[in-house]
Amino acid sequence: MQTKVVKFGGSSLADAQHFRQVADIIHADPTRRFVVSSAPGKRHKSDDKVTDMLYHYYELARNRDSEADKYYARIEERYNGIIRELGMDFDISGELFYVKNAIAHMSGRDYAASRGEYLNGIVLAKYLGFDFIDAENVIFFRDNGTFDEEKTNTILGEELRRHEHAVIPGFYGCMPNGTIKTFSRGGSDITGAIVARAVEADLYENWTDVSGFLMGDPRVLDNPPPIEIITYQELRELSYMGATVLHDESIFPVRYAGIPINIRNTNAPADPGTMIVSSADGYDPKRIITGIAGKKGFSVINIEKDRMNAEIGFGRRVLEILEDNDISFEHLPSGIDTMSIVVASSALEGRRERILHSINRQVRADHVEILDGLCLIAVVGRGMVKAPGTAASIFDAIYEAGINIRMIDQGSSELNIIIGVNDEDYETALNAIFRKFVK
Ligand code: ASP
Repeated sequence: MQTKVVKFGGSSLADAQHFRQVADIIHADPTRRFVVSSAPGKRHKSDDKVTDMLYHYYELARNRDSEADKYYARIEERYNGIIRELGMDFDISGELFYVKNAIAHMSGRDYAASRGEYLNGIVLAKYLGFDFIDAENVIFFRDNGTFDEEKTNTILGEELRRHEHAVIPGFYGCMPNGTIKTFSRGGSDITGAIVARAVEADLYENWTDVSGFLMGDPRVLDNPPPIEIITYQELRELSYMGATVLHDESIFPVRYAGIPINIRNTNAPADPGTMIVSSADGYDPKRIITGIAGKKGFSVINIEKDRMNAEIGFGRRVLEILEDNDISFEHLPSGIDTMSIVVASSALEGRRERILHSINRQVRADHVEILDGLCLIAVVGRGMVKAPGTAASIFDAIYEAGINIRMIDQGSSELNIIIGVNDEDYETALNAIFRKFVK
């Protein structure tokens, strides 16, 4: 029998109604054997996520604020409300009481935050009639705080084999000294991927509140359609450039194991969502481009020097300066006598003068300058390899919109064309490209 790992995000588990939808989804397919839960998210725009409430309660408790108890009662009510409305014969007050005391007695900030998924996992397991596996016993970090993938994979794999169906809370694991540590925010996606790898799942379904990955940011583009199939590599390019649906790090465990991810919508379970696959062989893309994403806030360090191309070690010396200043670069377009280094503007803060000075001294450039206000737009698509003229269409679109291109970079994989334009042209450029390719 196939095995699917299903992860539900906070908005999918925000209230009793969503719990019912989630249970229907899980029960509709017996191969959905392992469920990873987030903490209850927002029920409406102005609502609070339980994780944020737990961080806040932690601070109140730490400062011995007289409001702390009253505030914690609101967290208790989120869980009690769900249990009550579902008509469950289950009392979670003992757990809630224990958690409250443990946080008040300083079990740590991560411990506090992790209880959102822990408690929700208990409720969901009870509601589904599944076993509950505490992530604390199966997800491990090293002393230096990095995730211990091999230890986790072995122990988690052994544990999961003992269960037909189970709920595993997302977002946290255990340090070697037994304390709780969380992944970064949104980290339940990572737990889902780790669980999928450990059971060698056939599919990792990631249920959220959108019908898959959209071609671009709906706040900027007019009605971008969902992407049906995207490769891991394309997704990585797009999420690196700011597109978010999935936690960036969550891709690695499943990509490594060749397990596809299916992003689905809990509120529209009939929608096929987006499939993320290792190789798109056999899936011819419907469109030349798969997606567009962009990010503002970049600067370019421009270096000019006559006969730069003949000077061996020039690039290394410049990059060493960045390394010494702990700066990673994003792109490195170069000409015969010019070298441009694109870096996040924030990385230059407080170091501009030092960098300019070091470059001048080390490579005796004719001219060095730092220009700010650049945004990068990535046009990503495996279909570009087979479609001559894609770059021309992109440049046409930008030209027709009356925008000046400040930088062009095309990787040799022909998967990605990156252009740099002024920050203020970001929205117009993105829309112009979108309209050119999506009619
Ligand atoms: N609840 C955690 C957060 O809000 C983790 C997650 O939802 O994935 O970041």
